[in-house]
Amino acid sequence: MSRLSEPGAVREILARHGLHLSKALGQNFLINPTVCPRMAALCGAGPQLPVLEVGPGLGALTWELAQVAQKVVSVELDRRLFPVLAETLSGLSNVELVEGDILALDLPALVREHLDGGPFCVCANLPYYITSPILMKLLETPLPLRSVTVLVQKEAAQRICAPPGDRACGAVSASVWYHAQPSLLFPVGRGSFLPPPQVDSAVLRLEIRSAPPVSVADEDAFFRLVRSAFAQRRKTAANSIAAAGQYTKAQVEAVLAQLGLPAAVRAERLTLEQLAALSNGLAAGPRP
Ligand code: SAM
Repeated sequence: MSRLSEPGAVREILARHGLHLSKALGQNFLINPTVCPRMAALCGAGPQLPVLEVGPGLGALTWELAQVAQKVVSVELDRRLFPVLAETLSGLSNVELVEGDILALDLPALVREHLDGGPFCVCANLPYYITSPILMKLLETPLPLRSVTVLVQKEAAQRICAPPGDRACGAVSASVWYHAQPSLLFPVGRGSFLPPPQVDSAVLRLEIRSAPPVSVADEDAFFRLVRSAFAQRRKTAANSIAAAGQYTKAQVEAVLAQLGLPAAVRAERLTLEQLAALSNGLAAGPRP
């Protein structure tokens, strides 16, 4: 086990390199030595499956991943961390560091160039300010991705694990459930980070599905519909979808009626099957 997530070691490395953590970049580094080995063991990386990490920070999780994975590719935005990583990961021949913004990178090109275009998994302690955009990008880009194991805010993990039809479900959860089977692995308290965030965290796992669980005629139209249905949570699904401008309230209500659903149903009460049927029904009908 590495010392890289022991509180004393983290403080010593930061002081020696004169580094001040950036709140804007979501830099809450792990200082609980049990978390990284558990994540590395559970993420599925192994001799046959390389792993992509987002935000290595000082390299605590990277080091643990390098012990189990054939190869680790880590994308880091903060270039101040590269001299630190050269030190903390020295001697590890299976780690490649890539400088860049994960949201701006061409992921298929990254997978081709650094992961031989083959299957891979993702394991990361995510910068919380961009949790949803990162997950959406990973899920919506066509990639040979097998699973995603990430440390996120506990509330975000719980929301994502709520299936469509459950009150806690939102647009992100519905999209996640279309692409993956989510589960909550274990909680991580706020005291496990330096500096401690305002909220507790949890390790979330997304097992990527080999095929979507529902059939939709047009995926782009389906995801647009899901976003618009959940955009105004206090409104009915029909009002919220109509507000996006593509369909009238009457059109949405007509399809809801065909599906045997009340006109005033809210998006949070719709299952994935019902969201798919609504999208397919609207796409089949005439536009205003
Ligand atoms: N893995 C380390 C750990 O667990 O201690 C650090 C995790 S810290 C929560 C998030 C990391 O993501 C930081 O190193 C931060 O600089 C990096 N980061 C923030 N925004 C990023 C982005 N858009 N692309 C890539 N890395 C980013």
